[in-house]
Amino acid sequence: MLYRLKTDFRLSIITFLAISGLVGISPFAVMRFVQGDVLAGAVDLTIMFSVTMCMVYAWVTGDTARSGLFMAVVACVGAVTSGAVVGEAGLFWLYPCLVTSFFLTEPRYAVFINLAAVIALMAHGVAFSSPVQMWSFAATALVVSCCAYAFAHRNESQRERLEHLATIDPLTGVKNRRSMDEELAMAVASAARTGVSYGLVLLDIDHFKKVNDQYGHGVGDEVLRDLVALIEKNIRRSDQLFRFGGEEFVVLMTGVDQTGLRTVMHNLQQIMDRFLKHPGGKVTASFGVAVLKTGEDPESWLARADEALYRAKASGRDQIVYADDGVAGETAAEIA
Ligand code: GH3
Ligand code: MG
Ligand code: MG
Repeated sequence: MLYRLKTDFRLSIITFLAISGLVGISPFAVMRFVQGDVLAGAVDLTIMFSVTMCMVYAWVTGDTARSGLFMAVVACVGAVTSGAVVGEAGLFWLYPCLVTSFFLTEPRYAVFINLAAVIALMAHGVAFSSPVQMWSFAATALVVSCCAYAFAHRNESQRERLEHLATIDPLTGVKNRRSMDEELAMAVASAARTGVSYGLVLLDIDHFKKVNDQYGHGVGDEVLRDLVALIEKNIRRSDQLFRFGGEEFVVLMTGVDQTGLRTVMHNLQQIMDRFLKHPGGKVTASFGVAVLKTGEDPESWLARADEALYRAKASGRDQIVYADDGVAGETAAEIA
């Protein structure tokens, strides 16, 4: 739960907003009912119920785009209704709603929601004691919205940039080990929930140090980029490639059984055998493959693939070894 709060920015905004909304509005709801103002109390209760539903929906479905948009609408409609029902005192509630709508939903929706809320209150007019007050309200609402837009926009672009830097390998452009850890954890959770099978391939280029030593680091880098392009071209869109580190890569395959995995691996090895080259000849790789077992955690899944890779190296390289086989793998030449 804490992990989702930390990693999903919009979910955290929805959650904190819902909780602070509940804490902030509930005393007023109680006060309205105590004072006999049932309509205002009912408005408060409806807002509290709606924001709670938005938060629950976001947590259950993970669809923070829809729940964020709905929450922004609920908050602004709630603030407008409260301004219309209780008058001037209700106006203040619109300010936090104008600010948070930019964090809850896309800017174009937020602009529309904020404008609609301010215009609705102005058209109704009852909440304002004078035209000057109404136009002051409109001007301050505009300033608040513009500031919130600028801040949210900057925050979002910096977050995207940081996320990119933190998850993408700069040399090859594929996801890095950090992303892999997250995706493996998600795959394990998804397998437990849905029964979908997952295959993990750990790949290590053979004698890569020699390539660097003989042809230079630039050529080595080129080989790494070629390898990535080749693999990406030959795996399905639902499969994911990660740079595990150095000249080691991981492919996470979704919805593959043992037989399917073998076919895919043989094809991949054949393609690499034909197309992956350095100036002096072929580049080969060794593969350790493990299908996720029921109830297994990411660490032991990866450890089994690593152990299979170790066996592939030990039995002569340019091999595919399957963790469950317990025997040496096949070379590209044997398969061909
Ligand atoms: P093995 O078959 O046992 O895997 O031998 P190897 O030479 O591939 O393995 P080793 O671990 O001895 O060397 C890995 C090499 O990968 C050493 C390192 O210089 C190189 N390497 C790691 N990252 C990069 C990179 O980003 N670019 C280049 N060009 N080389 C890299
Ligand atoms: Mg290595
Ligand atoms: Mg190597």
